[in-house]
Amino acid sequence: MREKIHLAVIGSGISGLTVAREIAMWLGENAVTVFEKADRPGGRMASKVINGADFDYGAQFFTVKTASLQALIDEMRAQRVVDTWCGRFIEFDHKTVCSERNWDDNYPHYVGTPNMAAIPEWLAKPLKIHYETPVTKIVKKTKGWQLHSNKTTLGIFDWLVIAIPPEQARALLPPSHQFQTTLSSIKMQPCFTLRAALSEDIDFGFIAALVRNHDISWISKNSSKCNRTAEPSVIVHSTNKWAQFHLNDDLEQIKHHLLECLQGITRIEQESIKSSDVKRWLFANAPRYSGSNHLIDYQSAIAVCGDALVHGRIEAAYKSAQHLVSDLTSEFEEKGVFAHRPMAGNSKKI
Ligand SMILES: Cc1cc2nc3c(=O)[nH]c(=O)nc-3n(C[C@H](O)[C@H](O)[C@H](O)COP(=O)(O)OP(=O)(O)OC[C@H]3O[C@@H](n4cnc5c(N)ncnc54)[C@H](O)[C@@H]3O)c2cc1C
Repeated sequence: MREKIHLAVIGSGISGLTVAREIAMWLGENAVTVFEKADRPGGRMASKVINGADFDYGAQFFTVKTASLQALIDEMRAQRVVDTWCGRFIEFDHKTVCSERNWDDNYPHYVGTPNMAAIPEWLAKPLKIHYETPVTKIVKKTKGWQLHSNKTTLGIFDWLVIAIPPEQARALLPPSHQFQTTLSSIKMQPCFTLRAALSEDIDFGFIAALVRNHDISWISKNSSKCNRTAEPSVIVHSTNKWAQFHLNDDLEQIKHHLLECLQGITRIEQESIKSSDVKRWLFANAPRYSGSNHLIDYQSAIAVCGDALVHGRIEAAYKSAQHLVSDLTSEFEEKGVFAHRPMAGNSKKI
């Protein structure tokens, strides 16, 4: 007889959503439960409308090399959840232009529409997700894992997938668990993001710019992405190094400095900035990691995935999750636990 299995996923960023969707296709929707501490899915694929202006204040865009991700993006593009971001891209060395080119459909730079958050929202649709439910404790039971959110018990699950940054995953795992050593070797880096609304649409001569040898690493005209509101909006990211150095500084001072950097490069006047604020990301970017792209402990029925096990990119987070799905489905197949066979075209093996 086929055994039923119930899997919990902690985190609804792109990696957690990918695992949950793919496993739900194999085991059925009711076999997978996602717990998310925020009130929305997406994690670092985050968007916000402030005074009518659109801001993607986490991931800006992504590129795709993996065939299965390309197929998923094509499906979303057909449903107008994804589009390409085209226009002039510039690289600055401090304040000097050192290279420029056009982003076009020959090498697509994808964005969600009407915002980046539309992508995780689309992925989350068929899933059972408990929002505003931080998992604060996990306890190994004879069979599976018991999850807790503060004083509430969330249930016991046969398998547990942790799809959150390493520092946060380590805090949940037992101190002696085998994943601790690997996870402790990966240091996520912080970042400050400036969100600035402009009083008029100013042409910077670029839609996006990479900045080297400066306290900031990125400037983009967020409003130049397709299907955004008419309000002109700009995003600036600090470098990870500058953010690390100024991590506990006053946010007003951080904002002031990032605005100065923006003005120094784009030459826009102070009066053109209608409003602005700053977001501090503690675990923003993951350096390249060359070990295993996911962690799996068959004996204890627990796994970890996410961008940090590859590199700080959306495609990397997706890849980590896909490789984990491949191992999990093989394990379930071996143990004869399938409730559903995947529908044709649904399971994208790597
Ligand atoms: C400022 C910035 C700019 C970036 N720019 C780009 C870019 O241009 N292109 C690109 O490809 N990538 C970019 N990235 C990286 C990209 O956003 C990430 O690689 C990707 O989103 C990571 O997905 P993930 O699922 O691994 O993790 P996350 O997106 O971090 O998802 C983890 C989720 O787990 C939740 N969570 C954490 N702890 C708990 C808990 N205890 N209980 C329940 N839920 C919990 C979080 O709320 C979050 O929703 C950027 C990131 C940042 C921060």
